[in-house]
Amino acid sequence: MRTRSLTLAAGLATGALVLAGCGGDDSGSGGSETEPTVAEAPEFAEGTTMAEIAEAGSMTIGTKFDQPGFGLQGLDETPDGFDVRIAEYIAGQMGIAPEDITWTEAPSAQREELLENGDVEMVVATYTINDERRERITFAGPYYVAGQQILVASDNDVIAGPEDLADNPDQVVCSVTGSTPAENIREYLASPGQLVEFGIYDDCISALDNGQVQAVTTDNVILTGFVAGSEGAYKLVGEQFTEEPYGIGIEKGDVEFCEFVNEALQEAADSGYYEEAWTATAGQFEGTEVPDLPEPDECV
Ligand code: GLU
Repeated sequence: MRTRSLTLAAGLATGALVLAGCGGDDSGSGGSETEPTVAEAPEFAEGTTMAEIAEAGSMTIGTKFDQPGFGLQGLDETPDGFDVRIAEYIAGQMGIAPEDITWTEAPSAQREELLENGDVEMVVATYTINDERRERITFAGPYYVAGQQILVASDNDVIAGPEDLADNPDQVVCSVTGSTPAENIREYLASPGQLVEFGIYDDCISALDNGQVQAVTTDNVILTGFVAGSEGAYKLVGEQFTEEPYGIGIEKGDVEFCEFVNEALQEAADSGYYEEAWTATAGQFEGTEVPDLPEPDECV
């Protein structure tokens, strides 16, 4: 039997994260079983993506491998986090058990391409829905709404929000290539050179640790995971200054699959799975709140 808490514990140990409910008095957090329901012999109209996946009995999903709380690869090689749990629920609705999912790392800049090439059937990876991306792929959801923020070292008293970057050109900020935060931050900079981009967030955190950059910017919930693992070394500053609705990327134009995913999300919410999945993953970090499932966008 798969033990979820062990998977999470492994991930937490790797990242040396500190849990919000560390004292153990937080009933309901940690150890919560959120195994997805796996439908037995579900039936779908012939020719649909759901029918193909159900027939194959397995599927490939893209997610992040370096983001605590959403998609973090632990010692057992299987990633865990809210995105992973959401993806597992959707797969379960097609009769695919968690052990029949192959996980592919989906760094920010590679997500559309992975879908376009057919390398993955879904991307669940802190993936902001926007029109530019919609030109290449279809989004189901949103299933969560994050917002961009800034992380700095705890002893940084220069940067208290994005507005302080332009006045302090020596404060270099890091984000990830192909992410919306890397684009959004540009208007706050003294010059383009004040932004350093890497392929994954882990590399931004290393750059902060070695003094190459003085700030990291991306979605608040991703940064919250890094703060929780830093033993007080980092802090978040300022308010969130964008809205980042997270969608589930699928092949462009597959409206039936998109509507199926939206129904699965609603079922996850109605059954209590969505809340439990949150509580067991991203909800472990201090300062996070159990979200409500947002209304879905139209499938286009
Ligand atoms: N949600 C933002 C995006 O999709 C930032 C997080 C990420 O890079 O995955 O670009």
